[in-house]
Amino acid sequence: MAEHKEAILLIEDEPQMRRFIRLILQGQGYNVTESGTGEEGLIEAALRNPDVVLLDLGLPDMDGLEVTKRLREWSGVPIIVISAREKEMDKITALDEGADDYLIKPFGAGELLARIRVAIRHRAMQRSGRKEPVLEAGNLKIDFSKRQVFIGGQEVHLTPIEYKLLSLLAGNAGKVLTHSYLLKEVWGANYAQQTQYLRVYMTQLRHKLEADPARPRFLINEPGIGYRFKAGIEK
Ligand code: CA
Repeated sequence: MAEHKEAILLIEDEPQMRRFIRLILQGQGYNVTESGTGEEGLIEAALRNPDVVLLDLGLPDMDGLEVTKRLREWSGVPIIVISAREKEMDKITALDEGADDYLIKPFGAGELLARIRVAIRHRAMQRSGRKEPVLEAGNLKIDFSKRQVFIGGQEVHLTPIEYKLLSLLAGNAGKVLTHSYLLKEVWGANYAQQTQYLRVYMTQLRHKLEADPARPRFLINEPGIGYRFKAGIEK
């Protein structure tokens, strides 16, 4: 078993849930700190400078959204929010406030660990300031420096908007980007509600890049939330 040393801060008030997550993480060698309230969690985050924060949105003293906002004032630590299924809007707001990913209760160990690995990889890239100039995933290759995209070695022609959308998603591989975030980044702040634009362009991109556009391998839909680029390594 791989020995990890990364520090994970778990902010969750439910003892059962905390125990479940702690056992999974400790089993993988992660160093886990737990907080049962938002206030305590913020203090621990400042004290320990964790590599990843797992944050429950329903905390007794403070909304998880507020915790996200306050953490983002001074920290770029990856935040994975944990939410109940019925809190759809909160999850989207948390992502817009700067959370990196989310997990919906109940989730399995494999899913939790996969999300943490993605977050840690992002963190390492962030810290080294290194941007990969070329991304290769399966038969897809994106050369960010030349703004070129290839499938099986053949260049694929993308429109400027298609390329912008793809490079944004691929540059954040593994991370879910919300509809409003994508719309603002690609089209501008006035377009944050135009989700139909996204649908149209994602369909076009899938037809150009995916072997089976109806069952995409790279451009994954997160229903009601946004899209995620799957490079294939975070399995
Ligand atoms: Ca809770």
